[in-house]
Amino acid sequence: MIGALFLLAQALLYFGVMALLLRLRAQLGIGVFVCAIGVMHFLETYLAAVFFIRLPFGLISPGSTVMFTGKLAMILLLYIKADAETVRQPIYGLLVGNCLMVALAAILRLYSPVAMPGYNPDLHLLSQLGALMVWGTALLFVDSIGLILLYERLGQWLADRFWVRASLALIATLSFDQVLFFTGLHLVTAAPPMALWGGWLAKVAAALVYSALLGFYLKHVEAVTPAADSNEPMSDLFGKLTYRHRYEALVEQSGIDALTGVGDRKRFETIAEAGIARALAERRPLSLAIIDVDHFKAINDRHGHVMGDEALRRIAAALKGSIRSDDHVFRYGGEEFIVLCEGMPHETALAHAERLRQAVPAAFEGTLDQPPTVSIGVATAPDDGANVVELVHHADLHLYEAKRGGRNRVVGNEIGKAAAPRRQPVARSS
Ligand code: GH3
Ligand code: MG
Ligand code: MG
Repeated sequence: MIGALFLLAQALLYFGVMALLLRLRAQLGIGVFVCAIGVMHFLETYLAAVFFIRLPFGLISPGSTVMFTGKLAMILLLYIKADAETVRQPIYGLLVGNCLMVALAAILRLYSPVAMPGYNPDLHLLSQLGALMVWGTALLFVDSIGLILLYERLGQWLADRFWVRASLALIATLSFDQVLFFTGLHLVTAAPPMALWGGWLAKVAAALVYSALLGFYLKHVEAVTPAADSNEPMSDLFGKLTYRHRYEALVEQSGIDALTGVGDRKRFETIAEAGIARALAERRPLSLAIIDVDHFKAINDRHGHVMGDEALRRIAAALKGSIRSDDHVFRYGGEEFIVLCEGMPHETALAHAERLRQAVPAAFEGTLDQPPTVSIGVATAPDDGANVVELVHHADLHLYEAKRGGRNRVVGNEIGKAAAPRRQPVARSS
């Protein structure tokens, strides 16, 4: 009786700590949970091979009962809260890690170690354990797939009865595992057959307990899976060591598009927002031209993506070379650019955009037989919009018109007419 209580205490401790690590995965990363599973694997296999206690129904190993059943319960929980792709991580890690351990241990035999006065390495035990651990993880691979499939299949009939559903899935998987693992154990360590029966009964009991604990966790601890970015990562010593992360964040914040060297979309939004606010306050216009390369896919298809990238760099350089010193060029998306011109009225912006349109193919003279062209949509604040979203939307409508009109052209508002929400855009050139 007292033995069973110890087992229960161990199961509660195991579940409590592992469930906590899983619960904190957003702050700590899933690696902490996965690594803890890995560490316990060694002790679990060692105990399963050599440490048995006698209960009324037979010999049982606390290693298999508490830790192995617990591990399967954790794998099920990981699958429910994350997905099968996350479950793959500990399984493959254990499989490869154990094979590596066996290989390294085999090389150990080639040394002739110095005899120490106290404890000496038991290479025989290491080999036995190694073989068992590889066998155990190979089984675990099959167990995990079977467990997930069974759990899903049982959901058809037991969707509202989690305890029964999880218990049945765990018991079936454990039964399969018990027979095959015990066969290996018997071959390696000559474990007595009594341990097969006793171990199985104990695992069934453990499965019932763990299923209840899983049900409790899913109902009261983590009923809803938090969104991946809803939790602040933990701030500890390691957090302070993340120079690489900070460097990358800094580069991102610097707002330069890595491919073309012009401003990126984020910087566009910041600068455009400030520019529009200034324009409204000073009652000055601000024009924006959205530039999309025509049939850019065909350039990629014809010359390859490397040339496509080179073409984007050249287009960005051509745009930069054609603007006034106070204007800005940004890469807005894949092959879309935006030129922002503060203080420029719409009519001037259309003429300016026309120069940009001509500058692009000119930059490819003598290189490509079919130089790329661009379509441009122009919009001007405050008439076309009083914020970035409205202005880009307006310019986008004009761009769309330019594409529909045959490409390689600039489209803006009809000159002489006040901007109205549903005015007809007019093609300015071709
Ligand atoms: P359209 O005249 O209608 O704009 O035709 P399009 O082929 O340009 O069509 P769309 O704008 O839909 O396609 C843009 C293509 O640009 C798709 C993508 O393969 C390519 N692209 C986007 N970003 C990059 C990049 O960074 N490098 C390269 N090489 N290609 C890119
Ligand atoms: Mg595009
Ligand atoms: Mg395009």
